[in-house]
Amino acid sequence: MERRRVIGWAARDSSGLLSPYSFTLRETGPEDVVFKVLYCGMDHTDLHQMRNEIHMTNYPLVPGHEVVGEVVELGSEVRKFRVKDNVGVGCIVGSCGECLSCKSNIEQYCNNIILTYNGTYKDGRSTQGGFSSLMVVDQKFVVRIPEKLAPEQAAPLLCAGVTAYSPLKQFKGSKKALNAGILGLGGVGHLGVLIAKAMGHHVTVISSSDKKRVEALEHLGADAFLVSTNAAEMERAANSLDYILDTVPAVHPLQSYLPLLKVEGQLILVGVAPQPLHFSSVDLILGKKMISGSFIGSMEETQEILEFWAEKGLTSMVEVVKMNYVNKAFERMERNDVRYRFVLDVAGSNLE
Ligand code: NAP
Ligand code: ZN
Repeated sequence: MERRRVIGWAARDSSGLLSPYSFTLRETGPEDVVFKVLYCGMDHTDLHQMRNEIHMTNYPLVPGHEVVGEVVELGSEVRKFRVKDNVGVGCIVGSCGECLSCKSNIEQYCNNIILTYNGTYKDGRSTQGGFSSLMVVDQKFVVRIPEKLAPEQAAPLLCAGVTAYSPLKQFKGSKKALNAGILGLGGVGHLGVLIAKAMGHHVTVISSSDKKRVEALEHLGADAFLVSTNAAEMERAANSLDYILDTVPAVHPLQSYLPLLKVEGQLILVGVAPQPLHFSSVDLILGKKMISGSFIGSMEETQEILEFWAEKGLTSMVEVVKMNYVNKAFERMERNDVRYRFVLDVAGSNLE
């Protein structure tokens, strides 16, 4: 069979600027799902990768790992999807299938995961992401988009949503009334607020400025809002939170946030700081506090967050843009000027 030639938008160097790029997809194997990309969310990780801030970028790089598409072709062994179904792909498109993490259905922690883009596929070629017209993905790494969910709403759930959901799931059904902190109100943070609220937690947003106060309290339904630079406000909130979901994509002083936690409270890092973070051991010891990390979520959890979203009738706040706006959109993301997630209308951008 002939390999399909597709058009994506790629970064060529560490300027991170995206422009049209033509490449071929692999042939459809028996386990593969081929889909036309409808929408793709824009994540801060894309920016880290496009600019080689994590020092592992191979160019040309077609980003995009919050991909929603419509199935156009199925491999001979694929039973769980039909042509025209809406499907989703998140951050990973492969794993070894044999290690303990894979066997325990937490394949995101497999040492041999294949990232949706900037990864190396089994055939030795670079993987390319959802800022492109068509994708071919192994069915194990494809989820079903519930019918009730609009595709552009579903897109951010596939990375940002499951990143907030996976660590918060441990608190689901807790008998205690939990006090949650969401640090950084961006793409991941705003979904974190909605998920924590839907789980019944009392939610405090901790933000770097006052700019998002009204939106956080009125649009997202947060219960309280703290400005991290307001020392008096931070002091009053000391020892009040059971956990903090830390989504900040930059170096930030952990000693400002650890005092907010109660005894046995947990700071969960999901934001990727490009340089090491520092903390004082005393801040953990006195209060038996914990710092943990969490990486996206499993395929099972990705399906779960989609169902959770549909069942609870939640709505994320997205700004849908066309591909010719993508560089501008990343520039605005960097300036913290998006409420709260850009979603690319890929199909509507007529890439071909
Ligand atoms: P985003 O939309 O840019 O949001 C980040 C938020 O953090 C901003 O809205 C801002 O909120 C705050 N912030 C930004 N710069 C800051 C600074 N210098 N100091 C303090 N606060 C700052 O980014 P995102 O897409 O949500 O991603 C957040 C981070 O999570 C990124 O590092 C991304 O790579 C990472 N991530 C990790 C995973 C994972 O699996 N662990 C998955 C997805 C994303 P305020 O205006 O409220 O301060
Ligand atoms: Zn594995």
